Amino acid sequence: MRDQALSVLLIWVFCLCVCCDRAQGGEPLRSPCLCGATNWSRVSAGGFSALMPMRPNSSVKTNHTEAGPAVVRTLKTQVSSAVTFAILHHSFPANSLETDRGQSFVRGLKATLGADGRLRSESVVRLGRYPGRQWRIEKSQGQTIITMRSYVVGDTLYQAVCVMAKDKVCQRHVAEFLDSCRLRIQ
Ligand SMILES: [Zn+2]
Repeated sequence: MRDQALSVLLIWVFCLCVCCDRAQGGEPLRSPCLCGATNWSRVSAGGFSALMPMRPNSSVKTNHTEAGPAVVRTLKTQVSSAVTFAILHHSFPANSLETDRGQSFVRGLKATLGADGRLRSESVVRLGRYPGRQWRIEKSQGQTIITMRSYVVGDTLYQAVCVMAKDKVCQRHVAEFLDSCRLRIQ
């Protein structure tokens, strides 16, 4: 009789363990990611918004060009010295030519590549009806990975950029950040 009671108890404990495992399997506990980005919320620069970690710093820089002032608004979160997320809103100068605007992707890529960058992949993406590019670029002899998207919308170039040390590249957060880009005027 005692053995039977013990068997019932063991079966009950076994079932409890299985059920607990199932409960955890249904709602997987996410292990800490490589990049360490937390506290995501939607922020916007001009009409362009994205989910960004923590509280981004905002800055405005004006470059004086022959075609007039070119203003760049940036929202940037430096998660650590090895991980940065940013969205940028570049206003083309008032007198810039249509052909110059058409060259935005090429010039944007060239500026990001700099002297030591290597383009590892390029794809065409869209934000609503607006065309864009996604690039994966290696810098610093492959030790830094930049993954970014650029979109031209009228007289504005929008960019979403992730900069990560090679050993901190977190594909989940790169994808979630880039896929979260939205345009108010879509
Ligand atoms: Zn991450």
